[in-house]
Amino acid sequence: MRTVNAYAAPSATEPLVPTTIERRDVGPKDVLIAIRYAGICHSDIHTVRGDWGPITYPQVVGHEIVGEVVEVGPAVTKHAVGDRVGVGCMVNSCRECENCRAGMENYCLKGNTGTYAAVDRDGTITQGGYSTHVVVDEDFVLRVPAAIDYAAGAPLLCAGITTYSPLAHWNAGPGKRVAVVGMGGLGHMAVKIAAAMGAEVTVLSRTLAKKDDGLAFGATDYYATDDAATFEALKNRFDLIVNTVSAPLDLNQYLRLLRLDGTMVNVGAPPEPLPIQVFSLFNNRRSFAGSSIGSIAETQEMLDFCAEHGIAPETELIAADQINDAYERVLSSDVRYRFVIDTATL
Ligand code: NAP
Ligand code: ZN
Ligand code: ZN
Repeated sequence: MRTVNAYAAPSATEPLVPTTIERRDVGPKDVLIAIRYAGICHSDIHTVRGDWGPITYPQVVGHEIVGEVVEVGPAVTKHAVGDRVGVGCMVNSCRECENCRAGMENYCLKGNTGTYAAVDRDGTITQGGYSTHVVVDEDFVLRVPAAIDYAAGAPLLCAGITTYSPLAHWNAGPGKRVAVVGMGGLGHMAVKIAAAMGAEVTVLSRTLAKKDDGLAFGATDYYATDDAATFEALKNRFDLIVNTVSAPLDLNQYLRLLRLDGTMVNVGAPPEPLPIQVFSLFNNRRSFAGSSIGSIAETQEMLDFCAEHGIAPETELIAADQINDAYERVLSSDVRYRFVIDTATL
């Protein structure tokens, strides 16, 4: 065991505070990573505030992790000391179920082991990336290509894969019209990735405040959802809508924007149920779907895709003592477009 610096939530209502946590000894197939940067995902905030249900405190969150390998177990073959690596939203899975055997550990039927706030194999609660080191089974550690900037790479491990996976699955590409709802951490990555895949991308944001950014990220159109005329103008238009919004929306309004056989996929995770009128689905034989992060193989594919296409998240680097302010800014959508913690300040 080693004791390392971290930032933890003491309860659902108090600010995060500096602390120390224990990391397990490096097992035969484990990799010890010195974390350099950790992104702040809206899911971190949902989790520590208990939005998705009660958790055990104190809790360290963070699942957009990049760093360097500093030690490997004797049976490790995929990573070596000095490698640039990443860890995303999961650190293990059962490896035996139908979905794991199909290479889709993110959909493990026994539940994948989340990077934080999950019960680990040893019965402890996993602690996330707002810390200086983490020990992870080599199978859940990604290679970060040299072409990807270290600090800017962190958000790819959640915001990148969570948007890449549905875009790839529903064939975003040339001739496809894709809408991205909400342009925050996930949304801005969805715009960049869908554009790089060759799709025609439209941003649906509450206002036009971020229009110049959206067009610079590769969108060809940008509409304000605060304006009712948007929903008239865009009826029956899209093949795919990716909803990244962290709060409830009137889904029916958005479903009506799908053309024949179009799909709206929800990656945003508000705790409240979202009502759907089935008639919004009947017309144009529309589908409503969900998607959860991506597999390890797909995450590696996404990192390589981003390196090849020169795609990087837009980040604002912060010190650990700015985490609580950053949370407030994420909650008020005052983020351009992802906060990344410099773990040297922990
Ligand atoms: P974020 O940076 O806060 O972005 C969310 C965006 O949603 C905002 O930028 C804003 O876009 C829009 N929005 C926020 N509040 C809204 C409201 N009340 N009404 C309408 N629009 C609103 O959050 P994020 O880190 O991208 O995460 C987004 C959601 O995805 C969270 O719920 C998170 O937990 C979830 N998530 C899911 C997965 C998965 O595997 N499915 C993975 C990661 C995250 P505009 O300002 O452009 O309107
Ligand atoms: Zn996340
Ligand atoms: Zn499984």
